[in-house]
Amino acid sequence: MPGKASVCVKDPVVNDPGIRPHTPPIYATSTFVYEDHETLRRVFEGEHGYVYSRWANPTVEVVERKIADLETHGLNVPDASAVFFSSGMAAMSAALMALIKTGDTVVTHSNIYGSSSELLTTILQRFGIRTVFGNLHDMQWLRGALNEETARVLLVETPNNPTLDCYDLEALAALAHGHNVSVVVDNTFASPVLQQPIRYGVDVVVHSTTKYLNGHGTGTGGIVICRDKKTAHLVWHQRKLIGGNASPFEAWLVNNGLKTLPLRMERHCSNAMTVAHWLEKHPQVSKVNYPGLESHPRHALARKQMNCFGGVLSFELKGGLESGVALMKSIRFCTLTATLGTADTLIQHPASASHVQVPREQRLAGGITDGLIRMSVGIESVEDVIGDLEQALDSSHA
Ligand SMILES: *Cc1c(COP(=O)(O)O)cnc(C)c1O
Repeated sequence: MPGKASVCVKDPVVNDPGIRPHTPPIYATSTFVYEDHETLRRVFEGEHGYVYSRWANPTVEVVERKIADLETHGLNVPDASAVFFSSGMAAMSAALMALIKTGDTVVTHSNIYGSSSELLTTILQRFGIRTVFGNLHDMQWLRGALNEETARVLLVETPNNPTLDCYDLEALAALAHGHNVSVVVDNTFASPVLQQPIRYGVDVVVHSTTKYLNGHGTGTGGIVICRDKKTAHLVWHQRKLIGGNASPFEAWLVNNGLKTLPLRMERHCSNAMTVAHWLEKHPQVSKVNYPGLESHPRHALARKQMNCFGGVLSFELKGGLESGVALMKSIRFCTLTATLGTADTLIQHPASASHVQVPREQRLAGGITDGLIRMSVGIESVEDVIGDLEQALDSSHA
């Protein structure tokens, strides 16, 4: 054992008002110290302050404030606030669990993000939460579902996988509120730059910050933005007791990402539009799903509720499964992977990759056809993306 030279000495507290970092420091600390007992007691009694990083951390709070501002920019929603988590799923489960209790029903659509669907049908079902999956374009069905006495939350994801279907947030929020049902929207595909669900009356917005908000694929995170303080407090309480708080380092990465978010989204949108138009004319492609195309069934709605149409698209190859596999083998510039929302272009063939375990009939019912390819178009020179698709389609067609 070493003698007196222990490394476990008390760190000196640096508190020089002359030090003013330009970017927020990473407060890598579990706890915060107090000069006097009275102040600490007031914080425990509910006054704003930092005690323990599962409760609040200054680096994390920077991101919470910025994203709450982005989601409500230009709107008169002064009470909006956000709670940051370690992943999109931690955020989603906290948002849902803050709003529901045993015996309640969640109303949603069948093509919701796979893990969100699984959360509802496994863990939450075990706690006595019922979920009904339906078609949110069918207002008559929806009215019936919301009219059930147990209906508590309407969960919507727009645009969503795999056909980039879009749902009418204004109409859905009005209908749900008429039945005293809260509306939660997964805004991951759009980002707050392209769509502000709170503008249309939505109560709670969830993001996987792993995607566009971080933007560089360097970590996982999630955030819940609430229109009112009461709900935000319930979500915060959820994090305080169940955990799932993000590390200050992750918050710092997202803060960096946010600085270029509007610029990146602009480029994601224009690149995706160019790629979608190019694919639409390609002889091996039978269909392109992108809300920015006039051929998209929800184009008018997307134009109404989004500032632009996003970076994700999907398309169908005439050659089906075989062509999908061949294309994946010929891709060079684009990256083969299943996530979305990073600076570089990502591509995958769900039928032979992310959904290979799903029975074919079930996969088809979810709109994932044999020749469907999903792309998250990046911010590179669009010529590089199209050049790669062109060579890959040519060589896989031999
Ligand atoms: C990725 C994603 C999630 C889950 O987020 P994680 O950060 O992976 O936990 C939820 N919803 C959508 C739409 C997503 O794309």
